[in-house]
Parts: sequence; C-alpha cells; structure tokens
Amino acid sequence: MNCGAVVREFNTYEKPYSVQDRVQNVDEEMKKRLVILGGGESGVGAAILGKKKGYDVFLSDGSSLKDEYRNELQQAGIAFEEGMHTEAKILNADEVMKSPGIPEKAAIVKKIRAQGIEIISEIEFAYRYKGDSKIIAITGSNGKTTTTTLIYHICKTAALDCALVGNIGTSFAKQVAENPKPLYVLEVSSFQLDDIKTFKADVAVLTNITEDHLDRYDYRFENYINSKFRITMNQQADDYFIYCADDEITMKYLNKFNIQSKQLPISMKRELPNGAFIKDGDMYVRTGEDFSQMSVFDFALKGKHNQYNTMAACVAAGTLKIRKDKIREAMQDVQQLEHRMEHVGMVRGIEFVNDSKATNVNSVWYALESMTKPTILILGGVDKGNDYSLIEDLVKEKVKAIICMGKDNKKIHTAFTGIVDTILDASSAAEAVRAAYSVAAKGDVVLLSPACASFDLFKNYEDRGTQFKNAVKEL
Ligand code: ADP
Repeated sequence: MNCGAVVREFNTYEKPYSVQDRVQNVDEEMKKRLVILGGGESGVGAAILGKKKGYDVFLSDGSSLKDEYRNELQQAGIAFEEGMHTEAKILNADEVMKSPGIPEKAAIVKKIRAQGIEIISEIEFAYRYKGDSKIIAITGSNGKTTTTTLIYHICKTAALDCALVGNIGTSFAKQVAENPKPLYVLEVSSFQLDDIKTFKADVAVLTNITEDHLDRYDYRFENYINSKFRITMNQQADDYFIYCADDEITMKYLNKFNIQSKQLPISMKRELPNGAFIKDGDMYVRTGEDFSQMSVFDFALKGKHNQYNTMAACVAAGTLKIRKDKIREAMQDVQQLEHRMEHVGMVRGIEFVNDSKATNVNSVWYALESMTKPTILILGGVDKGNDYSLIEDLVKEKVKAIICMGKDNKKIHTAFTGIVDTILDASSAAEAVRAAYSVAAKGDVVLLSPACASFDLFKNYEDRGTQFKNAVKEL
C-alpha cells in the first residue's frame, strides 16, 4: 500500500481548502474591532496602522471625506462610511479611536461612552506601536507649531533620524505605520491628550496656557488646563518636562499635578539654575551637565513670543545632548513660518503682516506687543469666548484703527468703542485689506491677527492668510 500517496491526497484535500480556511475564520473572529471616528489625517493614519497591526478596522465619518483620504482607505482595503454614523457598525467596537475634532457632546460619542466602550486618541494608539523610539511632545495654547518646527529643525541640523508628526503634518500613527523613526517630534493638541491612557513623552514641552477652545471644555478653563497637564501624566523620573515659568496659569497649577519628570523651566524674568533664561539679550541654557549661551540677536525668529519658543526648543535639544554649534546653527537659519507674524510686503510705505494663525487673544497680545509702528488691526471671525480686555492697553497704545472681519462683529465693537476711533466692518479679506489701506498712512503697519477662528468666512486659517496676502498683492 502506498501510504505516502494517501497522506499527500489527504493533505491536498484538507489543508488548502479546509483547515486553513477555518484558521482564517477563527482569526477573523478573534480580531479586535477598532472603530475610528473621523476620517481626517489622524483617523486615516490610525486606520492604516490598525489594519497593519491586524485589527478589524472600520472608519466612520459624519461628513464627507477628502478625496485623498478616501483613496488612501480604498487602497488599503479599509472599510469605511461617510456622511453618516451607522450605530450597529460602531457600537460593536472593542475600542474606538476618536479623532481630535469630534467633541464629547457629539451624539455618537455619548452612545459609545454609554456602552462602556473604551475611547482612545490617535496618539495613544500610535504610542502602542512606536517600540523603543523616543518622543518629544509639544503642547500649549500658543507656539506649538513654532516650537515643534524649531525642535525638528535642530534635530535635522544635527542629522538625527527623526520625523515631524502630529497636528503639524503627517499623523503620528501614519508615520509609525509607514516609516517608523527612532525619534518623533510630535505636536499635540489638548484634544489628543484628553484620550490618552499610557502615552508618555520622553521630553514634554508645555509652551503656555491661555483661554482657548473653551467651547470644547464646557466653558470651564480648569478642564482645559487639566487637559494640557496630561502631557506629564505618565512621565517618569528620567523624562523631562519643559514649561514656561513666566506663564501665570502654568505656575498656578504646576504643583497640583504629581509630576515625576525632571522639570526644566524657561524664563525671561528671572535666572534659573536649570532650563533656560534670557537676561540682557543673552539666552543661557542648562540641562544637567550641559551649559550654553547665545545672543537673542542671533535668533532667526523675532519677537518676544519666539524668544520663549526658541528657549523651549534649545532646552529640548539640550536633553538630547545635541552639540551646541548645531543648535546655534539651527536657530540662526530656521525659516519664518507662514501665517505667523509673516511679513507680506510694503505698499507705498505701509507694511502688511499676516498673523492669521492668531486664533486667540493671547497670540494677538504678543503680535501687538512686538509692533513698533502705528497699527491697523484686522480682527474677527468666530469668537471662542474671547476676553478682549486682555489686549485693551496694547490697543490703546498702538492701534489707530480696527477692521472687523467676520460675520458677527458686535462683540468687537462693544469691546473697543470709545477706545479706538475708527472701527470698520468688512466681510471678506479683500474688503478688509482695502479698508485698512484706506485708513493707513505711510509708516503704519496693517496687521491681520484675528483672535478668532476663521470658518465663518474662510475654509481655515491658511485660507484666510492666503486670501489676505493675495488681497495685498492686488492693491
Ligand atoms: P499653535 O500651533 O499653538 O497654534 P503657532 O506656533 O502656530 O502656535 O502660533 C500661533 C499664533 O500664536 C501665531 O499668531 C504666533 O505668532 C503666536 N505665538 C507663537 N508662539 C507664541 C507664544 N510662545 N506665546 C504667545 N503667542 C505665540
């Protein structure tokens, strides 16, 4: 009897068509179901990473997806829906990844919470798969993108193999899925921090805390503050926490949190033994054994706010033991960022500055603080609970006219009537630029620094800034 033949026959019959199929079905059944709410950069990034890691992924977006993201999902073979949330497909999740743009008060989020399904953020999900790579995470109300860019620029100048991720461009999850690196420089919003569990930054930077996004925090500033401090939540003794010792709110709350990491504050008001400070035009940085000194006149990014950002970046670089000459080189040649105190040009002796990214009152404060000429301020958009009294003194001192650029300008009129003689309304960037130009004199500056979100008249702050720049060119 030819036993071998029998065995072979048995194998060819059983293995490919039956046993394997059964194994695969069991695998499918055992796969964890990951539902992703929101199909923007972070949602699609998490979906791609989830698929790669063997999850049964389903992405649901209540609005329509951008073409590029729809294509990415289709190409990766990821199931998704847009323009709706099918509860049956969502509430059977083992875990939900909620995109940062989706508020807690959304009906579907409430239902997920009610079912007791765990909700995590995209950075939490990506963190699980980052291996032993290091993370420098930057949060704060203002200066995140600038500080993140500065740190990344230093790391690249020092030839470190790193990636720039988070709010600023490619999502952390997508980077981990497609091109993992030993070091991530990660810009983090408070919304991303709200749903972390284990996420830990080796180096955490908190630039400052001022009122922002209160609409997402039940109009309670405390909730937002707690959210920002979560960046330190899982840090250990050998991690670092860089913060601004001149920031009133940060200092008021610092001791309310049980921070385990090494604290490296920055200041312009007092000398500090660790971290960094600026005194008489020089910056001093000390991180452990390392010490360096640099003139603020060498900083490529000008303005007081950028001195803070530069200090934070240099301290972060110090913790990585990057050579001083590399840090210096990077600080001297970093490029100005678009839409952040961006010099647009001069028209008949009138300067135009695009600070469209100033979406809260504090960043307008810094913009006005750095103005040295009579200013025509373009303000307005979607108010997020602004308290304009914070800039009243600077407006009195420096602003000769306000152009309100929004659908509803009542609050600005109320705040500045009697303080500024000329307050005009405009309903587009072109109208605002023309109005500003008509009241400006040679030697003045026209500053777009709106203190508000942009979506009443524009797609986003980039669109607002670009339309402003185009309108200036048209003059
Ligand atoms: P974010 O990413 O936190 O929004 P950006 O770096 O994009 O911060 O800057 C946003 C706005 O805040 C710009 O108008 C910029 O001029 C201003 N800004 C930048 N850094 C700071 C800072 N450290 N403090 C206050 N305002 C700042």
